Amino acid sequence: MLSANPRQRLANGFALHDRVFLAGDAVHTHSPKAGQGMNVSIHDTYNLVWKIGAVLNETAHRPILSTYQSERRMVAQQLIDFDKQFSRMFSGRPARDIADEAGISMKDFKETFATGNQFTSGASVEYAESILISGQQKCATSVAEGQSNLHIGRRFPSQQVVCQCDATPVQLGDALRSDGKWRLVVFSGDISHEHSMQRLRTLSTRLESSDSILSKPVLEPILVHSAPRRDVELLDVPTAFYSRKDTTAYDYYRVYADDESYHHGHGEAYEAYGVDSEEGLMVLVQPDMYFAWLAIICSTQQIGMVTARLRRAVKYPSDDEDEPDELDEEHQEKLIADLQATDAQRNELYLMLFLTLQLAGALYFAYAFVFRSRNAQQRLLALLSLSSTLCTAYILHYMRIEAPRRKGKTAVYKLNAAKGPVEEYLAYLNAALAAMLLLAAILSWHRSLFEDAARQALPAILFGSAMFVRQQVAPLDMEELQKAKYNYKGA
Ligand SMILES: Cc1cc2nc3c(=O)[nH]c(=O)nc-3n(C[C@H](O)[C@H](O)[C@H](O)COP(=O)(O)OP(=O)(O)OC[C@H]3O[C@@H](n4cnc5c(N)ncnc54)[C@H](O)[C@@H]3O)c2cc1C
Repeated sequence: MLSANPRQRLANGFALHDRVFLAGDAVHTHSPKAGQGMNVSIHDTYNLVWKIGAVLNETAHRPILSTYQSERRMVAQQLIDFDKQFSRMFSGRPARDIADEAGISMKDFKETFATGNQFTSGASVEYAESILISGQQKCATSVAEGQSNLHIGRRFPSQQVVCQCDATPVQLGDALRSDGKWRLVVFSGDISHEHSMQRLRTLSTRLESSDSILSKPVLEPILVHSAPRRDVELLDVPTAFYSRKDTTAYDYYRVYADDESYHHGHGEAYEAYGVDSEEGLMVLVQPDMYFAWLAIICSTQQIGMVTARLRRAVKYPSDDEDEPDELDEEHQEKLIADLQATDAQRNELYLMLFLTLQLAGALYFAYAFVFRSRNAQQRLLALLSLSSTLCTAYILHYMRIEAPRRKGKTAVYKLNAAKGPVEEYLAYLNAALAAMLLLAAILSWHRSLFEDAARQALPAILFGSAMFVRQQVAPLDMEELQKAKYNYKGA
């Protein structure tokens, strides 16, 4: 237990081997000023028990248990920080006037209280990216998250909506029952318009297809449409939103309208959540009401992504263990980035290796030119060989091939060098030089001068192998990889 101050203590660990768990006052205590011990302790255990329940019921992968410590210890730390700040407000000396910076002014007190309210209500608690919570970056590409007032990793805020079947005003938070199920809350837009309804039907088909994790009882879809309630018949809504997986009876309490209620006004849920009625929105909510992922619903690709996202955390007993899971966008991005980094590192290594070989060759020919050449002809050949190997080294080092640009389906590789005459013609000149030396080697061979033949053939061999390696270490075709991303299955 860390104990800088005996009143404010925080345990180093909340779990041991993800088998023994501690929660509440056992792992964090603070002064009575903040009055948050019970609130935070209850949330600790709520966070923990749905995960343990899911793992024991075999509907979640075991590693989700590790998120208990990562998520709740962070909140406990925030609680301690908040308590320190808050305690100072209570026990500090009141400021005499505005110039008294050491004292606590009323303005400071009010500000701390207002910020504290966000924390004490739990509304500002935000879990970091994990196996459960999607990375914010990824979501920025899926949907303009800034446009929505929903923040990934935070608790799903409740708004009033109207129940489609009986017109009662309902807090959407109450519709997300605490029963260990994940919820896919679908903001479909105005389904009295055919295009929105068609989009919803496509989604419903995916939600009901038997091979999809979305059809498993662990996930419950909830619909919030923005059409006038009376313009929509419940049975016109796709069946995924009212059929039940355990019986043939209907579930009447999963379809809601963002509409005027009879006695409690309009909830304006779409406006409050910042959902664009045209685009629609899908929100994946964890069993503890924290939401893990969101995306616009107009693309089938996004539906594939919600499946992949869910698969990271959720498993089902009937799942074929051998079947590779789909990877979600974040994983794929990471995989591609890792692949690119490893590839670049390996390419650099090969280039350095071959460059060293060229320089060793150049040194040898310089030595041959000075010490081993017996006549003018041999000196000329040694000089040409030296020039050739130096040219090859230059090409390897300065004229690298850059990442391909696409022309239709084919990748076009270009030189990663300024296009001067040297870059334009050097490779051809060197090829001609190497060919000439090879010819000399063949003639020497015919005259049984094997040592000379080997020496004269060497520049051509070095040049040929260097050009081959240079081609092999060309950067990855990232565009092709990015395109393959969404279809990528298995690691
Ligand atoms: C005066 C006061 C006012 C407070 N006001 C607020 C407030 O306004 N808001 C708020 O959120 N929080 C408040 N708190 C804090 C809150 O009460 C605690 O943070 C909360 O009760 C912690 O819950 P817990 O389950 O972790 O621990 P506890 O409530 O302490 O529960 C631990 C239980 O374990 C039992 N136990 C201990 N050892 C053993 C053992 N060896 N074997 C079996 N059982 C054992 C204990 O008897 C106890 O029942 C207040 C606390 C105090 C003291």
